[in-house]
Parts: sequence; structure tokens; C-alpha cells
Amino acid sequence: MSQTYQKRSTAEWQSMDAGHYLHPFTDFKDQMERGSRIITRAEGPYIYTSDGQKILDGMSGLWCCNLGYGQQEIADAVAEQLKELPFYNSFFQCAHPPSIELSAKLAEVAAPHMNNVFYTGSGSEANDTVIRMVHRYWDLLGQPERKIFISRHNAYHGSTIGGASLGGMGGMHSQFTRLPYVHHVDQPYWYGEGGDMSPEEFGLKAARSIETKILELGADKVAAFIGEPIQGAGGVIVPPSTYWPEVKRICDQYGILLITDEVICGFGRTGHWFGADYFNVEADLMPFAKGVTNGYQPLGGVMVGDRVADVLKTQGGEFYHGYTYSGHPAACAAALATINILQRDKILEQVRDTKGVYLQEQFATLADHPIVGEARGVGFVGAIELTNDKSARTRFDDNSTAGDLCRAACIENGLVMRAVGDTMIIAPPLTMSTDEIDELVDRARKALDLTA
Ligand code: PLP
Repeated sequence: MSQTYQKRSTAEWQSMDAGHYLHPFTDFKDQMERGSRIITRAEGPYIYTSDGQKILDGMSGLWCCNLGYGQQEIADAVAEQLKELPFYNSFFQCAHPPSIELSAKLAEVAAPHMNNVFYTGSGSEANDTVIRMVHRYWDLLGQPERKIFISRHNAYHGSTIGGASLGGMGGMHSQFTRLPYVHHVDQPYWYGEGGDMSPEEFGLKAARSIETKILELGADKVAAFIGEPIQGAGGVIVPPSTYWPEVKRICDQYGILLITDEVICGFGRTGHWFGADYFNVEADLMPFAKGVTNGYQPLGGVMVGDRVADVLKTQGGEFYHGYTYSGHPAACAAALATINILQRDKILEQVRDTKGVYLQEQFATLADHPIVGEARGVGFVGAIELTNDKSARTRFDDNSTAGDLCRAACIENGLVMRAVGDTMIIAPPLTMSTDEIDELVDRARKALDLTA
């Protein structure tokens, strides 16, 4: 293999890294002082560091590598496409086979009313596209006053101005000026905010905060509601069973578009193609990214349901929106290869019926640990809540470092788990064997012992 970089010692890499590389979502001062972990290769569900540590990747990269690492077929598909046609734009009446094939394939696997797709380079761009497309839709329908998006506290929809405005992350909001037409309502986080209510009662209450907001703002001004089927970066918040049906009822009642952000839930994580399918809810638009290419190429997009597509396609007039890399041929080739493996190897069925069930059973045993208040999850995504009082469902305290300590203990024990405050989350590759699932749970338990 031709090497594009020199082999160096960990210390050399860390020093170059600290000198020149500003990482995303990073305290740069801390990065310089602590030094980065340098990941040099990966195979199956494992990553390997420059000093030879083998770590079980409980986060699939960053919710990306749903099929794990070392997928030769995807690498080959990308290489072949780069040799055949490395790039051509899809503006100005042009298209190419991989982007056309992928569009038809996505329409095949998505719900029957999802027949069109608009490509982007990432999940953030997909959510920016959602904003532009929703505004265009209502303009074309002669209702330009419908501009408002309703989203949720603690949601994550990306890091562009549009994505971060749709998101409900206070830290991000404090660092830029948000779009004025995005409003936030309750998240369906029963463990943290449900109080004495049953999960079902709380699910209804959280959904009805959308209705309250619609009535406060004026139903004829609200364009859309957006939510992740399961909030991922906010701490794997699995909504109570009553939540999504009530959200759908409210959107239908007021004629508002429903958008499920599938960037994390899409492509098998819940054992279904999309999170909306898992919750049996019909969305109008579905932004996606990450798992669509198994993380092998950057690609995102928006699945566009017939309600919106029919208006966009029949009313005419140019939609002044798109990206140079919309539908990049090599990225589309990676997505086609990924979807082919998901289908051929019956990965969704395994997540739904066998391995996902096993993972959830084993993961749930962590709830017995003295510092775990709840273990929850669906398919191949899960979270545990760290607590110093199991009966009260409280976090350690506001300034708690338990999550950080636990994350560090996980790494020491050869496991990547992510900390969201005091919530520890996993989203491992769907291809993990039952032995590897056992290993994940064993390593997590050891890390909890060290944190306690
Ligand atoms: N939407 C959701 C639900 C996400 O989890 C993410 C990223 O984690 C994004 C959007 C943004 O995607 P990207 O980082 O590819 O821009």
C-alpha cells in the first residue's frame, strides 16, 4: 500500500497534533496539555492505538461504522469508483450511475411514501437542507408565514448554524447567535425529568409540550417539528411508548411537517432501516448520514416523503440549494456496498431478533451495579445512568466528574464508551459477536468498579 504519511512515535505525532491541528468539539488548551490518543488502524470491532493498545469500540467510531472495520467490499467499491469516475457534479442536468442507483435503493428500503432523496456531505448539511426545503415547501404552497421549527432541549442536529440552532445544546447556543425561528420544547427524558409520573404519562406530557408551543406561537406560523427518534448525543434518550404516536397526532392535527433526524438511528441501529420505522411513525422528511456509508466516505442526505416531494416536483422553479459534493460518486458507491451487506447478511434481522436482544439483556445486568441508576436501550444502542442514589434517580451532582472518570476507566480497560455528563452511552458495531458483546459488558462493569 502506498503510504501517505511517515511512521512516527506517539510523542512525535502528539507534538505535531498539538502544534497544528484544531480538533472538533475540543478544548484546545486541554488538547495541548493532555495529548491526543492516536488511532492507527482498526479491524472488526477493535481500534488500535499508536502505542499498541487494542480497544473494543463501543461507539462504532462516532455512531458511523455500523458494520465495524475491515469491510473490504466497501473499500473496494470506493476504489473502483474512484478509478472509473472519481468526481462529477450533479448540478446542471447531470447525474452518474452510483448516485442514481443509490437513490432508487434508498427509496426501496425506506417506507413506501419515501421515494426521493437529496444528498449532502454530512448530517449537519442534511439538517441545513431540511430548513431550506421546509421553507421552500411552505412558500410554494402559498404559506410563507410558516417559518417556525419546533425542536427539543438537549437535541443534537449538527454543528452548522442551522444544525446547531435546531439542536438544543446550551453549550453550543452560548457560542453563536441562533436562528430566531427555532423554538425548543421538552425532551422525553423520563429518567431525569419524569419525577413521580409513569413513563407513559410522562411521554404524553413531553409530546404535549409541542402542542402548547404551537398554540403559543400560532399554528399557522409553525412549519415543522424535528426530533431524533432516540436522542443520541443527548444521552441515548429512548422515549416512552406514548411519545411518538402523540407527536404524530399533534403534527397531523395542526398540519405541521414531521422530521425524524435519522443520522444515528438510521441503517440498522434499532434493527430497522430508520428509527421512524422502529417507532412506527410516518415522517415527512428524514435527514441521515453516518451509517449510510459505514463511515467509509462522508455522505449525508434527506429522504423526502411524497407530501413534500410532490410539491417540490410539480410546482417548478429552481431550488437554489446544494453542495458541490452532493451525491459524490465514491460516497454513493460506499453507501451501495454498505446497504448490500446490510441486506445480504441480514444484519437488521439479527439486531431485531437475536444479537440486539442479547446485547440488551446483557447490558441490562449493569443496572445491578451500585452506581448505576438505569440501563436502557434498543437494538445496538444503550445508556447507563451513573448515580449516587439509586432510589432517587439523581445524578451524582451538577459538577460531577463521574462520567469523565468512568470514560477514562473504560479506556484503561480497553473499551470506548462515551460520557454525556453522568450518562455513559454505547452504540457498538452491529456485527459484534456474542463473545464480543460479553467482553463489552465485562469491561464496562470493571470500569464501573473503578469509578465507584
Ligand atoms: N444529527 C444527529 C442526530 C447527529 O447525531 C449528528 C452527529 O452526531 C448530526 C445530525 C450531525 O452530523 P454530522 O456530524 O455528520 O454533521
